[in-house]
Amino acid sequence: MTQDLRELVRAEFTQAYGTEPIGVWSSPGRANLIGEHTDYNDGFVLPFGIDRRTFAAVGVRDDARIRVGSTFSDEIAEIDLAQLSPDAVSGWAAYPLGVAWALGELGHADLAAVPGVDIMLESDVPVGAGLSSSAAIEGAVAFALAELWRLDLDRVELARVGRKAENDFVGAPTGIMDQMASLLGRDDAAVFIDCRTQQAEAVDLKLAEHDLAILVIDTQVEHQHASGGYRERRASCEAGAAALGVASLRDVTVDDLARAREVLDDVTFRRVRHVVTENQRVLDTVATLASDGPTAIGELLDASHRSMRDDFEISVPELDLAVETVQANGAIGARMTGGGFGGSAIALVHRDLVSRLQVAVDGAFAEHGFGQPITFTVTPSAGARRES
Ligand code: ADP
Ligand code: MG
Repeated sequence: MTQDLRELVRAEFTQAYGTEPIGVWSSPGRANLIGEHTDYNDGFVLPFGIDRRTFAAVGVRDDARIRVGSTFSDEIAEIDLAQLSPDAVSGWAAYPLGVAWALGELGHADLAAVPGVDIMLESDVPVGAGLSSSAAIEGAVAFALAELWRLDLDRVELARVGRKAENDFVGAPTGIMDQMASLLGRDDAAVFIDCRTQQAEAVDLKLAEHDLAILVIDTQVEHQHASGGYRERRASCEAGAAALGVASLRDVTVDDLARAREVLDDVTFRRVRHVVTENQRVLDTVATLASDGPTAIGELLDASHRSMRDDFEISVPELDLAVETVQANGAIGARMTGGGFGGSAIALVHRDLVSRLQVAVDGAFAEHGFGQPITFTVTPSAGARRES
């Protein structure tokens, strides 16, 4: 599959622009093993890059224009590098163009001096399934432009570039997790990120050694309140931190929760409790992976789901059903993943159980009158790289 897309994107580049690209770069989508809604609270997350990637074929121009195309759309977006501004671009092209803009804004590139570029995108990261197709674009384009514009930037800096593009050019208020996972992923490893210091470290998962797989169950539910709900949860977290007199919920520990219950109203308290216990679960998962291996983290994944369902209240019946069904059919652990109100659940499962679980989930959804989910496995994979 990967090989095909690499060749396909070259062919599409040539068809659109009439020249050969200089190279092809790629970056993966991501799934989050554990640590949900902790990133914007300065906390901990443990995502991994997946074996579905976005490919960017890129060529250099002899003027100062930037063009970008995608199999997503028939249109090629085109603008002078110097004209790039959040108001000048909308739609999907804001993701790749925002990366060029952010390189300028952050002082990494002089957009009046660097050569123009042509970009063609191709991807097998599903869009809107909670697997961060947006970070995959940003990672691939940032990695390509850094090389072509000869910028000396490490992967963490490129992740910040992607985040700036998404926050300030596209206008989506997200944390740094997705871009870090896409840029820093490693084969059979997760990326443990301290979102306060933005320090990241690879954590071996050893799924292959234990014959384990990660099953994604995309419920196909796209909740209409997703962005409003996200904003509300963020506001609750900020209100909770303010009431507790801390800079962010990162500064609240499980031991502080008794006092927090006295100070906060019930809803805010439960939002806070999710974030505080989730941070602890991420730390426990990292420690447990090192001491006892991946088969020992199931209860942490299950507890994470309960916390999102009951305390943070961002699950939906389809996600709960997916999680309960795989748990009842032998999964080691399972939880909804991503922002919530729809999207996907993940399950840690033995390889030889995958098809049984897929059948069980399909059956349960049919029985409940839910639309059919899409289930597939993902393999923790390497971050951004040059492909050819
Ligand atoms: P996700 O959870 O998949 O990251 P987002 O809403 O953050 O969802 O980003 C999805 C958006 O990214 C799409 O609506 C589209 O604008 C853009 N996008 C994703 N994949 C591609 C692609 N292959 N080509 C062009 N744009 C894409
Ligand atoms: Mg996204």
